[in-house]
Amino acid sequence: MQPFTYTGLPTRVIFGHGTLEKLGPEVDRLGISRALVLSTPHQRDMAEDTAQRLGSLAAGIFSEAAMHTPVDVTERAMREVERGGADGIVAIGGGSTTGLGKAIALRTDLPQLVVPTTYAGSEMTPILGQTENGRKTTLRDPKVLPETVIYDVSLTLGLPVKLSAVSGLNAIAHAVEALYAQDRNPVIDLMAEEGIAALARSLPATITKPDDLDARSDALYGAWLCGICLGSVGMALHHKLCHTLGGMFNLPHAETHAVILPHAMRYNMQAAPIAAGRVARALGAGDAAKGLQNLARRVGAPLSLKEIGMTAEGIDPAVAQAMANPYWNPEPLIEARIRDLLERAFHGSDV
Ligand code: NAD
Repeated sequence: MQPFTYTGLPTRVIFGHGTLEKLGPEVDRLGISRALVLSTPHQRDMAEDTAQRLGSLAAGIFSEAAMHTPVDVTERAMREVERGGADGIVAIGGGSTTGLGKAIALRTDLPQLVVPTTYAGSEMTPILGQTENGRKTTLRDPKVLPETVIYDVSLTLGLPVKLSAVSGLNAIAHAVEALYAQDRNPVIDLMAEEGIAALARSLPATITKPDDLDARSDALYGAWLCGICLGSVGMALHHKLCHTLGGMFNLPHAETHAVILPHAMRYNMQAAPIAAGRVARALGAGDAAKGLQNLARRVGAPLSLKEIGMTAEGIDPAVAQAMANPYWNPEPLIEARIRDLLERAFHGSDV
C-alpha cells in the first residue's frame, strides 16, 4: 500500500426522497434564524416554495444566480444579505446557485445549507470559481464548504433529460480524475469507483424514464460520491481543459465535460493503467475511454466541441492556454498531443 494522507470533509449530508421536509429543523440546527434563499431565475418557483417552508426563518429570496459565479451578481446578493439581516444561506439549485452561496460565505462566513438539483457536485467541495472582467479564477477555502447538504431525490425528477445526461457525465469526470490524482487515497478510490458505477447504471434510465425514482436515487447518490472526490483530491488535464475552454469561449460547463472526458481518459490511460482499469470496471466496459464515449452516446450527450459552440479557430489559442501554466498530470503534457486531443474532441472523433 502506498502511503497517503486523507482529510475528511465535515459536511452533514441528509439523503433520501422527500428530505426537504427536514429543511426547517436543519436550518434551526445551524443556528440560522433569517435565511436568504438563493436560486437561478429559472428556479424561482423552487426558491419560493423553499421560503414558504421556512416561514419566519426566511429573510428573503435572491434569484439571480448565474453560471460561473459573476462577481457583480455576488455583490448584488451581498446587498440583499445586508438589507434582510440574513444570518445564513439556503441555496437550492445546481452548481451556479451553490457557487453564489459559496461566494457569499467566502465574504461573510455565514453558514450554508445547500439543496442540490443537478449532479454537478459543487456542494461537496471547498472550491469556488468566480468570474470578473471575463476571467474565471478558482480558490480553495474551508469557509466555502457548505455546512449541511439535503439531497432530495424528488427535486431531480424534473431535471431536463439533456441536463441530466451532461450533468451526470460532469460528475463522472470528477471521479475519473480522482482515480489518477497525485494525492489519491484508498478511501476516495472506493468512492470514485462506486460513484462512476452508480451513475453509469442509472443515467440511461433517467433519460428513458426521467421520473424513475430508483434510477434518480442512484444517480444522485453517485453524484454525491463524485462530488466528494472533487472536493478531496486534486484534478488534472480534463478539468484544466474544461476550465480553459469554458473561460475562453463561454462554452456550457457540463456539456464541455461530457465532450472532453473520453479524450482526456485516452490521453492518460497509458500512464494511469490502474485508474483506467477501475474506470472500465465501473462502466462494465473493456476500455475506459471507449466506455465513457459509449455512455455519452447512449444518453444523447454532445460528442463534439463544434456542436456546443466552439469554432476551429479556437483550437490554437486553447492549446496555448492549456500549456501556459504547468500543472500535474499522470501523462506528461506534450503540446502536439494536446492539440491532437482538442482536434479530435472538436470533431467528435471516436476515441
Ligand atoms: P446550473 O446550476 O447552471 O444549472 C443549469 C440550469 O438548469 C439552470 O438554469 C438551473 O436553474 C436549471 N436547473 C437546475 N436544476 C434543475 C432541476 N432539477 N429542474 C429544472 N431545472 C434545473 O448547472 P450545473 O451544471 O449544475 O452547474 C454549473 C456551474 O457549477 C458552473 O459555474 C461550474 O463552474 C460550477 N461548478 C462548481 C464546482 C465546484 O466545486 N466549485 C463543481 C461543479 C460545478
